[in-house]
Amino acid sequence: MNGQVIITCAITGAETTREHNPALPMTPEEIASAAADARRAGAAVLHLHVRDEKGAPTQSLDVFKKTIGLIRKKTDIVVEVTTGGAVGMTPEERLQPVTLEPEMASLDCGTVNFGDEYIVNTLPTMREFASAMKKHRVRPTLECFDLSHIYASHVLIKEGLIAPPFHYGLVLNVPGGVRYEPEVLDFFVRKLPQGSFWTAMGIGRASLPVVYNTLAMGGCIRVGFEDNVYYSKGVLAKSNAELVERAARLGREAGLTPASPSDVRKLLQLREA
Ligand code: ZN
Repeated sequence: MNGQVIITCAITGAETTREHNPALPMTPEEIASAAADARRAGAAVLHLHVRDEKGAPTQSLDVFKKTIGLIRKKTDIVVEVTTGGAVGMTPEERLQPVTLEPEMASLDCGTVNFGDEYIVNTLPTMREFASAMKKHRVRPTLECFDLSHIYASHVLIKEGLIAPPFHYGLVLNVPGGVRYEPEVLDFFVRKLPQGSFWTAMGIGRASLPVVYNTLAMGGCIRVGFEDNVYYSKGVLAKSNAELVERAARLGREAGLTPASPSDVRKLLQLREA
């Protein structure tokens, strides 16, 4: 990584509400402004979910299109759209924004508990998603919530559905899923293909410890209201940018420079936006 760290900001998510944090960006305009603020604070990648007029998560092409258009007017941040969507959505619904040909998209690599709900991703679904991303030249972030998901990603790679450079998203501490512990993260990373890029994300109170752990291990970091709405115990973050600022500061303290969007475009060999 040449002394750099890639910071992703997940500013909205599907499950976070204004009750969790009143500063949650929800409309396309708010999301675009928050994305520009996160970029100024040091984020190079935006992990994007959108909401409908009532504030519910949606995979609507129109809303994604409008939001990405507004983001593009304000900032050069790399846009990674979600295809995880929200609990209960169909695979077809979730996959829709990939047709807009964003630079990156998340690709969930298996089925997992999500609190009292669950997210279903069978291998055939994953193949369909990987094929669509290949067709539209979208770089997948292989989101693994469990060890089995990493092995499932190996199947997709072996089948030629995903080409290097690989970028993984390791999601730890989802309620009902794998807990964050340093040895768990270490083991996951050791099971990734050689030379993979990886971004670790700790949900809730695991967010900050995962940032420290990941900086020490040479990975990439993700913060934002999708994962955690607190700045410290009992203190809500004022904005997504405040969380990014701290992540960038910790990176610099560790001797790492936050990568710019153009650095990420080169490192992950993203298509021309
Ligand atoms: Zn997400």
